[in-house]
Amino acid sequence: MPSLNIELVTIGTELLLGFTIDTNAAFLGQVLSAAGVRIVRRTSVADEPGQIRAAVAEALARSGFAITTGGLGPTRDDMSKHVVAELLGMPLQFDDVVWQAVLTRYQRFGRRPVASNRSQAMVPAGGVALPNQWGTAPGLWLDSPLGTVIMLPGVPLEMRMLMEHEVLPRLAARATGTAIRSATLRTCGIPESTLAERIGDLEDALAPLTLAYLPSVTGVDLRLTAWDVVAADAATLLRAGIDRLRAIAADWAYAEGDTDLAAVVLDQARASARRLAVAESCTGGLLGGRITNVAGSSDVFLGGVVAYDDRVKQELLEVPAALLAAHGAVSAEVAAAMVAGATARFGSGIAVSVTGIAGPGGGTAEKPVGTVWFGFSCDGRVDTQTSVFGGTRAEIRERAVQGALMGLWQRLQ
Ligand code: AMP
Ligand code: MG
Repeated sequence: MPSLNIELVTIGTELLLGFTIDTNAAFLGQVLSAAGVRIVRRTSVADEPGQIRAAVAEALARSGFAITTGGLGPTRDDMSKHVVAELLGMPLQFDDVVWQAVLTRYQRFGRRPVASNRSQAMVPAGGVALPNQWGTAPGLWLDSPLGTVIMLPGVPLEMRMLMEHEVLPRLAARATGTAIRSATLRTCGIPESTLAERIGDLEDALAPLTLAYLPSVTGVDLRLTAWDVVAADAATLLRAGIDRLRAIAADWAYAEGDTDLAAVVLDQARASARRLAVAESCTGGLLGGRITNVAGSSDVFLGGVVAYDDRVKQELLEVPAALLAAHGAVSAEVAAAMVAGATARFGSGIAVSVTGIAGPGGGTAEKPVGTVWFGFSCDGRVDTQTSVFGGTRAEIRERAVQGALMGLWQRLQ
């Protein structure tokens, strides 16, 4: 059975100017799909009556069901309610219950409502006001011959609370018992195109699941989605699908869901009762930051040295000056000496070093911007590895952190 189809209209000039990121749309996509409601189109419009009217009218003509966010406040730029009430032929009426709720809220905060607040108690005739205890503008549920419009405030907290407490329970009554569920397999170290080539025909065999490739600086996530299936069946289908992908991508698949690679590496080290230290040059502490971002990292992570200047590499990590002079700071020799120095200084079973050229300057023909050398030390065995990463300075540094973690993951397998 197909799920309920809805169109989303997010209202606010700030969204189009790019000052506010449309997090309401992202949130609604997630909670609605989990509830078996499919967002089939998303539109953003400015606080302009003609645009709001057209967007809602077109959404209703196509799908018969729209959700809007934004423009429900008491100020002049908040006009969504007036425009939609007129479009649906539901004239605004003063609602004393809503007005009492507004007054109560103002009393609680020791404030006095101003004249414009009365507009927040105006409800389209025949519509349902959805009580908003997290703000003053109620949400609205409007059933009309043109279709249904649910109107929510733009403030993300109020929108989320109204969804959870007022909208989702009402939608559940109309839902079909099916849901849209996803599962993710996280990979790193293999390009999207190579991964796609290896997966090849399996993609068809995964039906009715659909497969999405989601590349980012930390790797490629493979997301499988089950559409319009009973929740219990979705779990079984997704488990089988993820296992098939895992069989193909085993050398690069480090986790499922939203698990961070740093957490996986910490678990590996913990399981073998070894402690970890880092020596960072071009990442300047980002690697230690990423590791310590994982709760409970203290039983594995000893610490690190940010050896940005060559003098620090020499004095704290005992990298020989002659090595730096002969090969340069970004070299296999220096990466190996850095990781050996960190191992000695921290007395750790495992260590990793990073030294590279994050750019935008400093590259040469021989060592272009993005060149990074890693050193790994595992139970006294030291080896090195290099990569040339693309992107901005920030992206190169983030890729270098992920590369260091991936190198550890491979060696601790
Ligand atoms: P409004 O209900 O239109 O008065 O919106 C109030 C505030 O909520 C705006 O100033 C924005 O900061 C925020 N906001 C509005 N729409 C969105 C949206 N789609 N995503 C994230 N924040 C939003
Ligand atoms: Mg607004």
